[in-house]
Order: sequence, then structure tokens, then C-alpha cells
Amino acid sequence: MLEELLRAAAESGLEPDLDLRKREFRLRFEKGADPGKAPAVLYPLLAALEENFLVTVAGAPACLLPDAAEHFTWPLGARGPFRRAKACSACALKGRCPGVNKTWAGATGLLRPVLPCPAELVLELNKECNLACRACFGRSGEQLPLKTAETALREAAALGVKSVRFTGGEPLLHPGLEKLLRLSRKLGFYTLLNTNALLFSAAKARSLAGLIDNALVSLPGVDEAGHAAGSGKTGLFGAKLAAIKRLRSAGVKVVRAGTVVSGPLVKDFGRWHKAVKSLGFDLWELYRPMMSEEALAAAPEFRVSGSDFAELAKKLFPARRSGPGGKKAGTRTVLANPVPFCALPAAARPFSLGARFDDGWTRLVLDASGVYKPSYPSKVFLGRTLAGAWKHPFLKKIRSAAWLQAECRRCAMLPVCLGGSRFQAAAAGSVFGADPWMATAPGGVRVVRGFAPRTPKRWKPLRRVPPARRGPPIRKVFAKQNPGQPSAI
Ligand code: SF4
Ligand code: SF4
Repeated sequence: MLEELLRAAAESGLEPDLDLRKREFRLRFEKGADPGKAPAVLYPLLAALEENFLVTVAGAPACLLPDAAEHFTWPLGARGPFRRAKACSACALKGRCPGVNKTWAGATGLLRPVLPCPAELVLELNKECNLACRACFGRSGEQLPLKTAETALREAAALGVKSVRFTGGEPLLHPGLEKLLRLSRKLGFYTLLNTNALLFSAAKARSLAGLIDNALVSLPGVDEAGHAAGSGKTGLFGAKLAAIKRLRSAGVKVVRAGTVVSGPLVKDFGRWHKAVKSLGFDLWELYRPMMSEEALAAAPEFRVSGSDFAELAKKLFPARRSGPGGKKAGTRTVLANPVPFCALPAAARPFSLGARFDDGWTRLVLDASGVYKPSYPSKVFLGRTLAGAWKHPFLKKIRSAAWLQAECRRCAMLPVCLGGSRFQAAAAGSVFGADPWMATAPGGVRVVRGFAPRTPKRWKPLRRVPPARRGPPIRKVFAKQNPGQPSAI
């Protein structure tokens, strides 16, 4: 099957290059490649490879496959002069992509803008919870009014957003959840629910499961003692396991687990992985803690370093290896929130999702107070409409990537790594500063080059990126929208 796909890729003018040691699979568009045939070849190839390899595509703009844009390294090593295509005006990458060169001039009809609106809307329905997890970044009585949530869903549908995620707090404590799930179904969204699962009684599972495509269950421990220590409530682990089974048997197709990484997890990863595997989750997501200094002082087990993560990352690939007969030996495990790729061993990079789901790169969160923000723990508020938030000067600047460190701007990992975490950068001084874990990269920060450039005179794209800041400075916009709020911008 893979052989056939590679043969088809070669026939369409795509040159593959595999680095097994680094688990990198690079595809490059050769001169004379057929752009019309490429998407039909690339999609199945990416699907077959991306779970185990870091796949990069060079020599074509990301708008050739807008929903797989994170694989495209354009214009790294590509040569100008560049011109704007029709798709550029609505494209989220226009601040850091110069357009198309003459190789693509005849194919602009195939190009579609990348992320003209967010890929996902996250509705934080409340900040109330039946647990008291130590890594949680905020509980209060706040609740998103049903009407505000319904308006947000309708606006998202009109903009063309594809998926909606309901989260909290614990969203099952929101009285309007079922109504909102039904509306989400009616509007045609792929619907995700983040939950601790404990409130999924048999009746709830029956009434809600058909409205949920994908559930993410928080897993602060893998036995009673660990769950009690992580969640602040004793005696609930058995009930959680039963609820997870009910979700599955009621028909939720994808059930994932999510765990915030702690020191004990790093040390005892083998035991955790074995237990998660036995619970039959489709995916186990591990999160770098995004906690304030105050929260870390109260829960010091979450004070993990870049080298702890590098140690953890080394264990991810062996945990994923195939078992006898080629069967999957373990639940696929990924680092699901921002970690600088240069702080990770190269072979672990395919198991890191990078920053694209955070910081407003591809999705936005509606806070329980009714204001949009770039990610769950962010304190940067972007206004009350989804369209306005997506065009907010703060996000325009974020997406331009012109503020990133010079190393990041030359790095082939940029489309997926995106320079690490803005939350951690803000905690270290400025949201537009360096992720502090870049400094812990083994041997110092090294630009990841991807395909070696073929000519020493290659175009240096990032020197020509136009200045991202237009209109009033972002600090002023923030201060006007959030009077009295301290800003790390
Ligand atoms: S800015 Fe233009 S050329 Fe670049 S990815 Fe977007 S649509 Fe394509
Ligand atoms: S140099 Fe920047 S973009 Fe490259 S891996 Fe490091 S943090 Fe990520």
C-alpha cells in the first residue's frame, strides 16, 4: 500500500526522502511536478505516514492542501520573485508567506486560502466542576449564558467553522448542554466534548452520546490513589472507568484521554502507559502544564522542565512500537500542546502536535464570560464576535510570525512547532518573547532545516515579510478592550 502511494507520488513529480533515525519523511515538488494530481497523492500519503513520521512538504505553497497546511515548509528554500494569488487575500498565512512564484503561477486556480476562519470554536461553558484537579487553571461559578453560546454557534456556522468543542469546568454541569449539542448537530459541526466523564450516568450517556463525535476524558491518575491525589476527590476512579465504558457502548466513536504531565508521570511513564492502554482509549494526550507561579507553588509536582519533557519524549516512540503480527502495541500517545521541537529528541517530534491548537493559531476559545481568547489559560481578550476576534490585531501579529526568534523564522519546524508556547513566553516576560524551553534545547537551539537548499543564493524569505503591525499598537487595543487588566503583551 505504502509502496503504491510512493510510486504515485514519484509519478506526480514528488521526490521522497526518508530519514529513519530522525523519523522524518520529506517530500519535495520537483520541476515539472503536476500540481493538479498532487492533492490526490498527498492526502493518503500523509494519512499513512503522519502518525509515525514527521512529514514535511517542500516546494509548494500550503494553500495547495489548506487542511494539511502544517506540513508545508514553503517558502523555506523556495525561490522568488513571488506574487500574490487570489487566495492570498483571505489566507491566515499571508503575513508570513510571500505568495506564489512562477512555478505555481499557472496553478493558482487550485489554491484555496488557509484558515479563512478558525478551524474550531471552543465553548468554555462554565468554570464550575465536580472535581478539584490540581493542574486545573481556574474554577469559579462563572457560566456562559445559553443565548451567548447559541449565537456563537450560529456565527461559527455562518463563517464556515468545521468543528465545535464544549468544555468547562465540567460542561455536564451546564443546564443547556444538551440543547447546545443538538444545535451543534443541526448546524453540521464535528462535535467534541471535554469532560471528566463522572456525570455520564446510563441515562445521560444514552441521551447525549449520539450528539458527540469525539470525547476527551481528563485522566489525572491511573489508579484510585493517583486519581484521588490528582483530582482532589477520593473514591471516584471505579466510577470513572464505568462511565468511560458507558460512553463507548452508547456509541461515542472516538474516546481520548488527557493528562497534564507531572514529575511522577515522567518517572513512572511505563506504568501509566500500560494502564492507559488497558483502558482502550483511542489516543492519550499529554499536556505541558500551563499554570501560574501561584498554582505551581500549590502543586509543585507539575513544575516540570524542558529536560523532563525531553526524557518523556524519548519514551513515546518505544511505547508506540508495533506488537507481534504488526498489531498496534500501545495507545498512540502524543504531546498535545506547545513544546519547542528543538527541545525534543528528533525521533520524538512526530509525537508532538506543536502549538497549532493553542494561542489562536487555528482555533479560538469563547471564555465563560462571553469574550473570545486565543487559548484556555490566556488572559488576552479579543472581543465578543468570532469574526472580529479572528481578525484582531493581536492574532494578525501572532500569525505573521515576524516577531519570532530568528532561529524560528528560518526553521523547517515552524509551521507545526510555531515557536512553542505563548503562555510560557508571557510568563517569562512577554507573549512575543522566546519560549523559555528553547534555551534548554540540547546543544543550544538548532534550526531544523528540512530539505537542504539546493542553491547558496536561495531567497531569504523572512527578511521580506512585511511589518505585521498595522493600525494602533496592540498594547493600546488590549488596554481599550480590557480596562484595568494587566497585560504581558
Ligand atoms: S498567502 Fe497565498 S500563496 Fe501563501 S499559503 Fe496563503 S494563499 Fe497560498
Ligand atoms: S527553532 Fe523555533 S520553530 Fe524551530 S523547533 Fe525551535 S522553537 Fe520550534
